[in-house]
Amino acid sequence: MNKRTVTNLLKDDLRLKSFAEVDLGYSLESAILEAKRCLACKTAPCEQGCPVKVKIKDFIREVRSANIDLALEKISEDNILPAICGRVCPQETQCEKHCVLGLKNPEQAINIGKLERFVGDYGKLKKEKNISANGIKVAIIGSGPAGMTCAGELAKKGFEVTVFEALHEAGGVLTYGIPEFRLPKKLIVNEWHKLTGLGVKLETNVIVGKTITIKELETKGFKEFFVATGAGLPKGLNIKGENLTGVYYANGFLTRINLMKAYKQEYHTPYKAYKHVVVIGGGNVALDAARTAKRLGAEVTIVYRRSKAEMPARLEEVKHAEEEGIEFNFLMNPKEIKGTDKVEGLLCEKMILGEVDQSGRASFKPTGEVIGIKADMVIIAVGQSANPSFFNNIEIERNKYGNIVVDEKQASSYPNLYAGGDIVTGASTVIEAMGHGKLVADIISKKYNK
Ligand code: FAD
Ligand code: SF4
Ligand code: SF4
Repeated sequence: MNKRTVTNLLKDDLRLKSFAEVDLGYSLESAILEAKRCLACKTAPCEQGCPVKVKIKDFIREVRSANIDLALEKISEDNILPAICGRVCPQETQCEKHCVLGLKNPEQAINIGKLERFVGDYGKLKKEKNISANGIKVAIIGSGPAGMTCAGELAKKGFEVTVFEALHEAGGVLTYGIPEFRLPKKLIVNEWHKLTGLGVKLETNVIVGKTITIKELETKGFKEFFVATGAGLPKGLNIKGENLTGVYYANGFLTRINLMKAYKQEYHTPYKAYKHVVVIGGGNVALDAARTAKRLGAEVTIVYRRSKAEMPARLEEVKHAEEEGIEFNFLMNPKEIKGTDKVEGLLCEKMILGEVDQSGRASFKPTGEVIGIKADMVIIAVGQSANPSFFNNIEIERNKYGNIVVDEKQASSYPNLYAGGDIVTGASTVIEAMGHGKLVADIISKKYNK
């Protein structure tokens, strides 16, 4: 069997000197080579693994014949952000997991994500035909992948869409969370240009629930609402020392670096250089924080309470982190952050693995053995919950985690108000959030027979 075509990576010695993207993607030749490995299976099982059911077999067939614009047309029927999803989707647990070529050895599955990224980067779509406006005003709250997808789909159907965003830049986690070395910010700016080109209005620095309420938006003529405010509120550890100087939550740390460019001298949001950074957690957020801290010059250790096999982070990110010299301290649970006013170290208890728990992963049990780890900065990345600001001035049903309760059509308990993405599911994935945005756009447009 032909081997999977690999992509080029930024050279090791350049990686830690900048925030430049690490994976350089396919050239046309290598994309065609990879596309030629696809068996064009009759039932295309790979498509069952994609939450938005991208027509994988069809788009790969176009890549095979070097019809990149046609490939993009095919993907765009189901996914408007292929350059982004191709880079950040957890393909190994989605589309690629179902590829027949990877059933025996996952390393042999077609590199669907990288092909999708290539098409998203280089394909060109025909200009949208003139859209006739229908005068129906829709408000979208939150400009992340869920809000972007809903906005784009509705604007194409002639709705008058305004997206309200609390921050000064659009894109949600794509902009403030995922670092440049995994997802270049120019891609999100480009996508927003396309959306505003379709007539979508963007109002930044507006916190719906605080700056303006849903009732006030109703009096301004908005008929339908889609809430996609995400899950950005960090969870804490509840251990001694969490209030010390030098303790950060990953989202806050990444926002300072990605959005406020705290590492650049010309920006007014200074970042103090730390030498020994410990990141607590095993997901993508922890990996992003660790790799960012490494680029800022620190020695970085990840502390995770289970083993490598249970880490929820993408395999590729773990591999890149290892290549970049990040240390992993598995089976360790933080007990106390040491210090009087600032961080001076971290105490952890050693764990052993136990039975499989509700999460489907091996559980962990304390051993009683405590060890000290060198640290002058601790970054906590153990999960996020619902962003709370939207709920200031509205009666709406929420579950025990604070997420909005919706029915199978994403409708909430508030009339004409739909919700989707992380504010409904809790911290999830870009493509799940986009799937909700698309579904809500379909439901709203069908309501008006569009
Ligand atoms: P978000 O992207 O969170 O966007 C919500 C937006 O709403 C934000 O811009 C916020 O400022 C705004 N907002 C909040 N409250 C208000 C208000 N009251 N008024 C107006 N605006 C408001 N997923 C993957 O698939 N692959 C990955 O590799 C990956 N890596 C990640 C790395 C990090 C660091 C993080 C934090 C998450 C990562 N995720 C990843 C998860 C993924 O980014 C999220 O699941 C996805 O962004 C959710 O999209 P969303 O549109 O629901 O919300
Ligand atoms: Fe795979 Fe994500 Fe593309 Fe779907 S959107 S085909 S899951 S990379
Ligand atoms: Fe191609 Fe794999 Fe999908 Fe078959 S399962 S169509 S080989 S990508």
